[in-house]
Amino acid sequence: MRLFKPDYYVRNFEKINLDRLKKRGIKLLLCDIDNTLVAYNDPDSNAKVKRFLRDVEAHGIQVALCSNAAPARAKRFARDLDVEKVYYLSFKPLARNMKKAMRHFHVSPRQTALLGDQLLTDMLGGHLAGVYTILTAPIIEKDKLDTRINRFFEGFIYRHFEKNNILKKGDFDD
Ligand SMILES: [Mg+2]
Repeated sequence: MRLFKPDYYVRNFEKINLDRLKKRGIKLLLCDIDNTLVAYNDPDSNAKVKRFLRDVEAHGIQVALCSNAAPARAKRFARDLDVEKVYYLSFKPLARNMKKAMRHFHVSPRQTALLGDQLLTDMLGGHLAGVYTILTAPIIEKDKLDTRINRFFEGFIYRHFEKNNILKKGDFDD
């Protein structure tokens, strides 16, 4: 169960304490897109996301997108956000694309963080890749079909966490 537990839990990306990441020695932030940066059904990014990514970079942390989304959607975001590297069809929790990104940016797992909204894909995948995991509450409660199935199992994990005083849903670190 500890493979699903985030290292850092926030309400949304704007709440992330970037100095905390910098102090940990994080050099690369891999961002999930759907329900992490924007609602899963939102075709466009927005000024808040752009400001966040610039802010991350201002802290000396490089940014790449690491999404399970289809190429068209992921590439459109990367273009719009002016992010050079975008990894789509990542099939998280597989660590393959995260490892690819770390090789590209010449960083180690200890220098890398993954930001995402799901326990079964993002948190598990991040742990399997050995990176620092940041969980955000999803932007909207609605999900696409495959995610709805994941959320069903996620419910069990959150209940286990809460029962064992590991993590309480909505009880954020920052
Ligand atoms: Mg997501």
